[in-house]
Amino acid sequence: MKIFPDKRQLPLFLLRYAILAGLVILGGCFMMSMPGKRHNGPLPPLTAEGQLLAKRLKEDVTFLAGTIGERNTNLYLQLQQSAAYITDRLRRMGYTIREETYLANNRKVVNIEAELKGARQPDEIVVIGAHYDSPPESPGANDNASGVAAMLELARQFKDVKSGRTVRFVAFVNEEPPYFRTELMGSRVYAANAKKRGDRIVAMLALETIGYYTDKPGSQQYPPPINLFYPDTGNFIGFVSNLASRSLLHASIKTFRETAHFPSEGVAAPEFIK
Ligand SMILES: [Zn+2]
Repeated sequence: MKIFPDKRQLPLFLLRYAILAGLVILGGCFMMSMPGKRHNGPLPPLTAEGQLLAKRLKEDVTFLAGTIGERNTNLYLQLQQSAAYITDRLRRMGYTIREETYLANNRKVVNIEAELKGARQPDEIVVIGAHYDSPPESPGANDNASGVAAMLELARQFKDVKSGRTVRFVAFVNEEPPYFRTELMGSRVYAANAKKRGDRIVAMLALETIGYYTDKPGSQQYPPPINLFYPDTGNFIGFVSNLASRSLLHASIKTFRETAHFPSEGVAAPEFIK
């Protein structure tokens, strides 16, 4: 079989493939190289402060996922109870709450927002959010009471900090099916209203499904081709962004690695990889 009709074309053929391979490698490095050093090995023992923090986080997760359980528009009372719990927790910290209510299938639903005005650049807003509804037929402990607990704890710790930018802590409703990727998703409604108001949101961190931890090999899966480059043990915090937010992702994971002795992985990927 004759692959190259003319032998003189071979160098050009090889050059093309070398360029293509080079681009793929560069693209991979661009997506996957992260600043700082991932923590490896055993986790340090919890300090007294860390133990108190663990107790508070567990209390929130236990209440939302255990006492209340499944919470979404199918179980509307439970959804309302969850909103009341989060609102109450934020109010007790001293925050004024702004409720963003809207109708979803004739049910009144609410995004809950607590704001900390920035001291130097109040017009620049950082949103720290987590959804509080659970998937159908799930108590939603990991997805996403764990994220809500972390959001509440951050709100608590930030309360007495003078922040340069404005920070908003937001609990989103309706992120799970049947609302997932629809106009009625809580975060989508929030983003649309923020755009209408002309809010300058410079960063958004979504705390999502962060409570699962295991050292068992084979416990972590990814969409291809990410699976070829990341560990298969689910014992780390994942930092994930689209390509446009790559520098924010780098700043976040760098700070995390400098301050937390906990394994972390990061990827900035095109939006079609989900
Ligand atoms: Zn979720």
